[in-house]
Order: sequence, then structure tokens, then C-alpha cells
Amino acid sequence: MKHMEVDGIRVEIVRKDIKHIYLRVCPPDGRVRVSVPRRVDDATVRSAVTARLDWIRRQQARHAGEARAARRELVTGETHWYEGRAYRLQVIEGEHHPSVQLQDGTMELRVRPGSDEAKRRAVLEAWYRKSLKEKLPPLLAHWEPKVGVQVAECRIRKMKTRWGSCNIAARRIWLNLELAKKPSELLEWILVHEMVHLLERRHNSRFRALLDGLLPDWRLRRDALNRPPVPGGKDAKRES
Ligand SMILES: [Zn+2]
Repeated sequence: MKHMEVDGIRVEIVRKDIKHIYLRVCPPDGRVRVSVPRRVDDATVRSAVTARLDWIRRQQARHAGEARAARRELVTGETHWYEGRAYRLQVIEGEHHPSVQLQDGTMELRVRPGSDEAKRRAVLEAWYRKSLKEKLPPLLAHWEPKVGVQVAECRIRKMKTRWGSCNIAARRIWLNLELAKKPSELLEWILVHEMVHLLERRHNSRFRALLDGLLPDWRLRRDALNRPPVPGGKDAKRES
């Protein structure tokens, strides 16, 4: 592989048996790679890259932002989410019981002096978990008679690719801890979605008809949940 520099941007060039020039900005570091037909000379490659410099810089900025967002260190000044609202994190060290409190637009994370990142994260996650857990009994009490199912157990865990899952035989539902950061109606949507799976395993027309009857705006909620900021979540799926 060879490379060239175009306006301060290093571009990797790969010659292949292809017909057109393909340009790609690769996450997470924003590396620029261009695949080029074998017969195309460097001057042509350079002008193709130059023509798309604005696009390349936008893509690089986007990847940099995503990498930064994924790399939160739980330090004062970061943005953190709760119930669909953004808060500015303020870490307060002191000899008090670790806690999280929301004050206007600030999320106050109280920890003992010298708490490292892992400790700060544990305090915040415990708070998210407790908050979600408190919302579940009233939601279940409301939806069990409507859906016509009894949920044996509803638990919270960290999941990388799903918002929720369920074990139909055990009537057990799992919810993604990330839902604590989302508006309550989106938590409700995932819960109802999983409860409906206790009646219908697949995402078929019966499943959608059941949802239409229970939660007529479920498509809006689904789409809202899959807009950023998301943890890479897709539509909820069931567990095995
Ligand atoms: Zn599903």
C-alpha cells in the first residue's frame, strides 16, 4: 500500500481491479483510504481526493466526536443523560455517602476523595439502575392486565446491541441499563414490546397487530429510540 498527502491529510491508496475510485474515512481514527483502479494515475487520485476534502473533514469530525462520546471518563464538564435530558456532570469529592443528584441542568456525582474512574462509574451506574428499577413495578402493574401476561421477573443489565430481551419460557424480561438515559415512554415501549413477545415470539403481523392495539404510537417510539445518542442499540430482540 502506498500513500500520499493531500492538504495535510494522509491518504492510503490501494490499487485494485475495480472500475471506479472509492473513498472511505474509517472509524474510529478517521483514517482516509482510497481504492483505485489499477490504470488510474496519482494525479487523478489527488484531484478526486481534493474534490471531496470537505466531506472527508466532516467525516473525520464525526468519528472524532463519536470516539470522544464513547470515552467518557466521568469527569466534571461531560454531558450525561437521564430520562432523555442532557446534564452537565459535576463530580464533587467529599466525606459523604456516594450519590447522584439532579440540580437544574447539573448532574452532581458525589464520591469519596480520590475515587477513580471505575468507582465514579459504579456510583453512577448504580443510580441509573435504581432509578430504572423503581419505575418497573407501576409499569408492570399497568401493562400486565392490558397485555394479558404475567411477567415472572424483570431485570436490568448492560447490553451492547439490544434494548431488551426476554426468555419466553421463564417469562423473564431483561432491559438495557441504557434505558435510564432515555425518556420514560421509550422505556415503556421496550417493556411492552418484550411483554408482547410472551404472547408472540416473532416480529410478525400478529405481533404488530397486538402492539397497534396496545401502544398505537409504538413506531414513533421505536424510531425515537434508535436516533442518537444510542448505545448501538437496534430494535429489541428476544433472547435465544
Ligand atoms: Zn422483539
